[in-house]
Amino acid sequence: METFKEIADNIDWKSTSNSIYSKTEVDVEKALNTAKPNLEDFKALISPAAEPYLEEMAQKSNALTLERFGNTIQMYAPLYLSNECQNICTYCGFSLDVKIERKTLTDEEILAEVKVLKSYGYDHVLIVTGEANKTVGVDYIKNAIQLMTPHFSHISIEVQPLEQNEYEELIAEGLNTVLVYQETYNRDNYKKHHPKGKKSNYDYRIETHDRLGKAGIHKMGVGVLIGLEDWRTDSFFAASHLSYLEKKYWKSNYAISFPRLRPCAGGVELKSVMTDKQLVQLICAYRIFNQEIELSMSTRESDTFRNNIIKLGITSISADSKTDPGGYANPNTNLEQFEIHDKRTTSQFIQTIKDQGYEPVFKGWDGALQ
Ligand code: SF4
Repeated sequence: METFKEIADNIDWKSTSNSIYSKTEVDVEKALNTAKPNLEDFKALISPAAEPYLEEMAQKSNALTLERFGNTIQMYAPLYLSNECQNICTYCGFSLDVKIERKTLTDEEILAEVKVLKSYGYDHVLIVTGEANKTVGVDYIKNAIQLMTPHFSHISIEVQPLEQNEYEELIAEGLNTVLVYQETYNRDNYKKHHPKGKKSNYDYRIETHDRLGKAGIHKMGVGVLIGLEDWRTDSFFAASHLSYLEKKYWKSNYAISFPRLRPCAGGVELKSVMTDKQLVQLICAYRIFNQEIELSMSTRESDTFRNNIIKLGITSISADSKTDPGGYANPNTNLEQFEIHDKRTTSQFIQTIKDQGYEPVFKGWDGALQ
């Protein structure tokens, strides 16, 4: 079976885009009424032609999610360990060329963060670092996982792409989930937004999920940074990537996130601006396309949007997040990656979830079951 890099190289961006934009109401209705939607149906669901069907899509997404996940929402918290980074990414507050104070947490500082998150009730932590191999390489991440395994039953990472043997080493220490977003699947635009550093290697990044699948990871996350490219075309590539991975690495589980670009110190002009309605459309399209997948939402989005999205297909959500290393125990907004939109506390957000008839779940998966 060919790799996804080879598959993606053979999907023409422009004709894919044209195909999405030329979908009709007939295509959308077919996609909504078929038992097993395929990638052509996904195109119809994310197309402009599907916009008048948003209510119907939302109802279907809600029903499919309830059937598969019940009325539960998994809670997680990001834990930023370092803002050091050797890459230039045009959209990120941690980019090498952004003049901010750099900080990497010591063991004591990591444990201080853990203590705060435990006091909030979290049992699933997402470790986040910049990409700086000398300071936050595999050994640093491994040590962080060792510090956290006594405290959390689910450990995820969002760090630089690694080699298969490095993933295997971290899985043996208790790593459960790895999130690696391609940012954009448009090769030319990718180059423009990642001009320097290891991340400028598009091929190495797009092959990461194959290395993860071979390493036997429990769950992996796929996605794009919404705003860098036309969101519909980029999302189609992400959905194709997901379909490929599910077939090839069927023992792993999958998650999709929907990061929309937010203001940051090194701000970038967006190629496409996605409205709230379009984000709802995309979330529902993914759920209708794939009933099994985890759909995740961060605090980048506003209070109102997050309140409304709970019933529409999202199954995993963060709250009370800090994007500066050390931000839970010793907040310093000068160190943060991007500005958080929803600033409610964990307990306030939990109440919001409950008010909507849903149950926040802090412990949904135990790494010991792996
Ligand atoms: S997106 Fe990641 S790799 Fe790029 S500058 Fe930010 S932290 Fe570094």
